[in-house]
Amino acid sequence: MNCDIAIVGAGIAGMTAAIYALRAGKSVVMIEKESVGGQITLSPRVENYPGFKEISGLDLADNIFSQALDLGVNLEVDEIVKIEKTAEGFRLTGNYSEHTAKAVVIATGLKHRRLEAAAAFEGEGVSYCAVCDGMFYKGKTVAVVGGGNTAVSDALYLADICEKVYLIHRRTGYRAEKAVMDRLLANEKIERLENKIVDSMENIEGGKLLHLKDTQGGEGMDAAVAGLFVALGHIPQNDAFKDVLDLDEYGFVNADESLTVKTPGVFVAGDCRKKTVRQLTTAASDGAGAGLAAAKYIDNL
Ligand SMILES: Cc1cc2nc3c(=O)[nH]c(=O)nc-3n(C[C@H](O)[C@H](O)[C@H](O)COP(=O)(O)OP(=O)(O)OC[C@H]3O[C@@H](n4cnc5c(N)ncnc54)[C@H](O)[C@@H]3O)c2cc1C
Repeated sequence: MNCDIAIVGAGIAGMTAAIYALRAGKSVVMIEKESVGGQITLSPRVENYPGFKEISGLDLADNIFSQALDLGVNLEVDEIVKIEKTAEGFRLTGNYSEHTAKAVVIATGLKHRRLEAAAAFEGEGVSYCAVCDGMFYKGKTVAVVGGGNTAVSDALYLADICEKVYLIHRRTGYRAEKAVMDRLLANEKIERLENKIVDSMENIEGGKLLHLKDTQGGEGMDAAVAGLFVALGHIPQNDAFKDVLDLDEYGFVNADESLTVKTPGVFVAGDCRKKTVRQLTTAASDGAGAGLAAAKYIDNL
């Protein structure tokens, strides 16, 4: 398909970029490899998107998609595997389709590294986002799995809301900044369970019973929690586009608030970008900025 703007990824960032670009009078194709709405479609309850006291992730995504559809967005279901600069603009190659555009918005989001033992309970007491779901466990006991900066920061964030937090880590050394570590070591509400992995879990009244295995061959132990937060890291989806943008050491796009990258005409939006807060509101904010910037870029050609 040939359009003014091609958007890779139909999560909240991509769909918001489409709405702004369409309202600026541009034709838009949005290419999505899995499901329209992205990550948030996995969440049964969203309570922090302004304008909705409570809405399911699917309903929120549906609302935004129908707004983009009414404005005339074209949707293609495919995975884009290559973006090339051409004399006219850009060529995007998918597994089944090819698209040309004058400008491109990359809004490919991220995937969360999953915990196998918790996979069957995702969305039902197992969360990947402390900021999103922490409030649901106010005054209760929860556990965080992981040993990096995000895991330690999540444990600290939850300790302010919850009665007690177990921090379960497969090793003893943490990959977290010193300031964050100092706060962890001083926090009496967080119990560190080191050299432990979650081997399996089961439903119990009021939550989950975690069966932990000692990685040093010691005794196993159980921990009863209301909820489990998995913080094993993010997997950005940007590798295929290294030629047109710069990635940081973790694979996120190196772009600031201008949402521009090394290739003029390519813009980024949402969780795929290096940033400190990855939420719906920040994805929508990036989408608005990238959609408008792409439209302006075309006007100035
Ligand atoms: C379970 C869960 C609950 C959450 N709850 C909340 C909450 O309550 N409040 C909140 O503010 N935030 C919440 N978040 C975070 C929020 O969902 C994200 O910050 C936001 O959705 C990011 O939007 P995005 O568009 O940047 O990326 P994504 O939602 O990741 O969308 C990117 C899209 O791009 C597609 N894509 C990737 N690569 C390609 C490719 N090569 N070709 C084509 N398509 C591609 C993906 O399939 C995906 O659909 C939650 C996240 C999860 C996982």
